[in-house]
Amino acid sequence: VSYGYQQVDPAEKTRRVGSVFSRVAKNYDIMNDLMSGGLHRLWKDAFVNRVKPRPGEAILDMAGGTGDVAFRMAKRGADITVADINPDMLAVGRDRALQRGHEGLVWQVENAETLTFGDRLFDGYTIAFGIRNVTDIPAALREAHRVLKYGGRFFCLEFSTTEWPVFGEVYDAYSHKVVPKIGGLVAKDEEAYRYLIESIRRFPDMPSFRRMIEDAGFTQTRVEPILGGLVAIHSGWKA
Ligand code: SAM
Repeated sequence: VSYGYQQVDPAEKTRRVGSVFSRVAKNYDIMNDLMSGGLHRLWKDAFVNRVKPRPGEAILDMAGGTGDVAFRMAKRGADITVADINPDMLAVGRDRALQRGHEGLVWQVENAETLTFGDRLFDGYTIAFGIRNVTDIPAALREAHRVLKYGGRFFCLEFSTTEWPVFGEVYDAYSHKVVPKIGGLVAKDEEAYRYLIESIRRFPDMPSFRRMIEDAGFTQTRVEPILGGLVAIHSGWKA
């Protein structure tokens, strides 16, 4: 199936993503604040409000990185497994959990495309700013569907394409000209941030991504654009 997004060599993409996140892990959280002017915190709050994690629910936070979304969900009493392909990102997350007194989270190295979990284990699957870095997105969506219980919910927070024209142009200029420079100054890695911005441009638009979620077997899919779709929350249900 072709979803109309630019294909890249799979092995090269996986290698590149691995190296980028190992390089940015230590500065990841401060860079998020700098690049988004703190907005990523509001987007993550909105995301977790949409997920509505309940006490005792088992939630897999995929591509959970340094735990930003996982901590918000753990605060509400859900049992969180944070999974990520990159051990360096998880290590920063574990340290943060210790410093902040978040207990009981499970941290596990996993590739979203080939999860080691059994079928129908989780009530919820979340992935925030992670899916665009995954090489085989349809495979990751099929795995999300497999590990969810019947009645389980899938939620994805990701950059998309804003439908507000002027804002879109301003954002495009900002992200391509300014963000890599900030990355160069603060994280000393302009190239890594150039990749991260480029991966946003390559990601499928909202209707295409929604179709991919449906093709993986989810029903009652929804898209909620934020800032005209600069960021979007996609969700689906495993019937
Ligand atoms: N969810 C966190 C957040 O919102 O702050 C981290 C997002 S970070 C931009 C993207 C994460 O996706 C990185 O930690 C990276 O290692 C992870 N990732 C990339 N490809 C992956 C894959 N195939 N399987 C699991 N995690 C992956």
